[in-house]
Amino acid sequence: MANLNIPEWLKKLGEDFKESGFELSIVGGAIRNQLLNLPVKEWDLTTNARPDKIEQIIRSFGCKKIGTIGKRFGTITGEFNSEPIEVTTYRSEDYSIDSRKPIVEFGSSLEEDLARRDFTVNAIAYDLEKNKLIDPYDGQGDIEDKIIRSVGDARDRFNEDPLRMLRAIRFMVQLNFEIEPETLGGIKVEKERFAILSSERVAGEMDKILLASKPSRAIEVMVETGLINYILPELLPSINIEFEAHQHKDIYHHILQVLDQTPPIIELRWCALLHDIAKPQTRRRVGNEWHFLGHENVGSRTAKNVLRRLKYSNEFVDYVSKLVYLHQRIPNDDGLWTDGAVRRFVRDAGETLDDLFAFAEADSTGGNQVKLAKYKAGRDKLKERIAKLEEEAEIAKIKSPLSGEELMEMFHRPAGAWIKPIKEKLLEMVLDGELKEDDKEKAAEIARQLVRDNPIQT
Ligand code: ATP
Ligand code: MG
Repeated sequence: MANLNIPEWLKKLGEDFKESGFELSIVGGAIRNQLLNLPVKEWDLTTNARPDKIEQIIRSFGCKKIGTIGKRFGTITGEFNSEPIEVTTYRSEDYSIDSRKPIVEFGSSLEEDLARRDFTVNAIAYDLEKNKLIDPYDGQGDIEDKIIRSVGDARDRFNEDPLRMLRAIRFMVQLNFEIEPETLGGIKVEKERFAILSSERVAGEMDKILLASKPSRAIEVMVETGLINYILPELLPSINIEFEAHQHKDIYHHILQVLDQTPPIIELRWCALLHDIAKPQTRRRVGNEWHFLGHENVGSRTAKNVLRRLKYSNEFVDYVSKLVYLHQRIPNDDGLWTDGAVRRFVRDAGETLDDLFAFAEADSTGGNQVKLAKYKAGRDKLKERIAKLEEEAEIAKIKSPLSGEELMEMFHRPAGAWIKPIKEKLLEMVLDGELKEDDKEKAAEIARQLVRDNPIQT
């Protein structure tokens, strides 16, 4: 099945390692993605050379932007012709970045290094010297069958580094694979270990999950395995909570549907996941309908807490919680908004305006056809009104090219009734397109002519 396309420069790099007496293999995502005919984002490489040696070899090879942050763990990063590479010394003992004393034990063989990797599909190497695939766990078979399977015993592997549980789910949605039953079972058993992880590592995987084409599958597996309790327990109350009377859909499934329909922009995807999170708390029955008064307000606060807990930047937290706070405004437009209400909305939305429209679109397509048509008509009208008001606001900002002060200085005259007709004439000419707003020279000429025709009375 091998369908590999190894760039010439990587083969040369392999020769440089060999000349210095070291091995070099391509591993991880680069091989996996090539076997799947997917683009390669970065080249993960592994070698028996120690980090200092790696740094030296890739530097003299001509790699740029060499990074040594991961040196402690055996990793040196760099770029060749803008293609990112990540070279790691073989490791044997597994480690956890989150434990106080990370154990990093360098290994001596490629086989040993592959044994500590997370999933069979990620434990395939391409030996650049022997020009062949080294695949001790039949990762190629699992790629063919579209399966995510732990290397070795899933429970042990998840216990060593609990992030692997979330990585399994991430690869499942990114590659559209299934998680093999024992691996899935391992998540159910080891999920409590998840609590030791740093927020940054969790958020990194969450972002990749949310940007997949169908992230709802990942959320469903998190709920099914119970992993959600350690990531987003706030989602649980929405399960089985009726949302629209007689629609046979609960809030949770509405959230999942909107999530998949939202454009793959990370802020919007987080907004989708969190937008109705406070509906269970705010639900009240009014006649035949459910009302969720103030859910966007409570939800926006919950969104803030969730994203802060995951250590997103303040800017990100503010942006997403603002989207959640405002997500109802467009669908709630009843066509009766005053111009003032429209202006206030545009001002409140600020930089989020376009994203709010994009999100409202995704949020509305879950409803029934009558509601949807009504929403779309309302939304288009609102867009038109915003455009018109913005145009008017632009027009309102147009001024006479010469201010009262400038005219007073020009004609050496004090303030008085003489100024207004000149300014008005100039403004009118700008509006008629006969004079540019910034053409002070031509405006001065015209002003002089006006004064000559109608001498200033003092
Ligand atoms: P991506 O396409 O996202 O880069 P990737 O598989 O290359 O996917 P990386 O996070 O770049 O993922 O890791 C590179 C390789 O290192 C993985 O393929 C896997 O073999 C190994 N690896 C990464 N993280 C872990 C981990 N937590 N436990 C075990 N092996 C890991
Ligand atoms: Mg990678």
